[in-house]
Amino acid sequence: MAKDLKEVKSIDEIKDLGWNEIIPGASLFSFTEPVENVVEVPEEERPYAPTNSHEWQVGDWRVEKPVYNRDLCIDCQFCWVFCPDISILSRDKKMIGVIYEHCKGCGICVEVCPTNPKSLLMFPEHMDNNEALNMWPKKEEKK
Ligand code: SF4
Ligand code: SF4
Repeated sequence: MAKDLKEVKSIDEIKDLGWNEIIPGASLFSFTEPVENVVEVPEEERPYAPTNSHEWQVGDWRVEKPVYNRDLCIDCQFCWVFCPDISILSRDKKMIGVIYEHCKGCGICVEVCPTNPKSLLMFPEHMDNNEALNMWPKKEEKK
């Protein structure tokens, strides 16, 4: 029997469902209750519904990851604006870091970072972030 997503209480109930096992017209709700002015609510305090993609680990096939260097960042927010996966964390207009559970490793945040050297760089997925920070390039001189 097709499943009505309104009844879903945990992700375990639906994680193995095929597309044709969900009732036609089913809606995926973002939150379990109405949230006023959601942009003002910190991410960790939002009542995400189990069907919200926020609750799924979807970055596990990444082969390279962006590593963030706080010492160089000017908090311009370009990475936050351009990330196609909402995987950059920012609070009060300060860049905080990358949400690796969702980041796909596309590298767009690195491309748009304007500092010299960049404050975000791609490194192999398996590399420790501290090791990556120790390998950070120096400032490129103008030619
Ligand atoms: S690599 Fe891509 S998905 Fe990951 S934080 Fe940067 S822009 Fe977002
Ligand atoms: S784009 Fe670079 S400088 Fe701007 S907030 Fe992101 S990491 Fe910092």
